[in-house]
Amino acid sequence: MNYSEDQLRELELLAYVPPSSVRGDAVSVATPVPVPVRVEPHVESAERSPPPTRPPPARDVGGAGSSKRADLGRTTVPVQTPQTPQAPRIVVDASASDLQSLGRTVANCSACGLCKQRKQAVLGVGAPKARWLFVGEAPGAEEDEQGEPFVGQSGRLLDAMLRAIGLARGDDVYIANVVKCRPPGNRTPTPEEALACAPYLDRQIELIAPSLIVALGKTAVSRLTGEDGTMASLRGQVHRYKGIPLIATYHPSYFLRTLPEKVKGWEDLMLAKKTFAGLVSAPKADS
Ligand code: URA
Ligand code: SF4
Repeated sequence: MNYSEDQLRELELLAYVPPSSVRGDAVSVATPVPVPVRVEPHVESAERSPPPTRPPPARDVGGAGSSKRADLGRTTVPVQTPQTPQAPRIVVDASASDLQSLGRTVANCSACGLCKQRKQAVLGVGAPKARWLFVGEAPGAEEDEQGEPFVGQSGRLLDAMLRAIGLARGDDVYIANVVKCRPPGNRTPTPEEALACAPYLDRQIELIAPSLIVALGKTAVSRLTGEDGTMASLRGQVHRYKGIPLIATYHPSYFLRTLPEKVKGWEDLMLAKKTFAGLVSAPKADS
């Protein structure tokens, strides 16, 4: 595969990426993990039931696999959808028939504590039938202000990453987050918050029906694949979310902090592009 100088410059990779170093042929398929859709509601502390047991800390907390966002100063808490959630008392209604109505539901949602400090819920942005879906972690301060995901510094890098593979926000691309409301202080969402918001992201993906998902950072990868390895172990392969191919890569904020690591983001994007190309050129099963 050939990459233009413009593409490499876009990711500021020209200085240290020989195009020959771009790989991405090893494709293996990970087992999908079913995602629970019933949630623990947000209740005031006096009536709150004991919190679910947290998973053990990820091995790379604060390191290469962290989805900590340098631009917005998140504190890193390992996040993975718990496999055995507490018995729920509320079931979130994510049965919306389109994204607009899902947006209205989310705007009024109080299923977790993140509802308390948000200015507005941020469902997502992009083409409603986009073939490419990018999933980040959570809205930050600017997203909470503007009601659109990835509009801050990480967003500008994400836009550059999209351009580098010939994509653009809103043009066959949809961008969403694991949780729809900003965690206070831009901390990483807790497993309980990711779980509470899961029906919305699941329904969103169902409605968009993308051909390919790119999960940005460990929060998104864990939520959508149920896997809890390091980012180093999760990238470089094709996972599946309910049958949809999913590529794992670092959160853009990680690249903002560690510029030389951008080469890995580039490799991941190349794997995504190659996987997508294979999908669109593959003959239909029943034709
Ligand atoms: N980081 C995210 O994960 N999501 C956003 O919307 C913005 C920054
Ligand atoms: Fe509801 Fe999700 Fe916002 Fe929590 S983060 S209040 S579950 S929309």
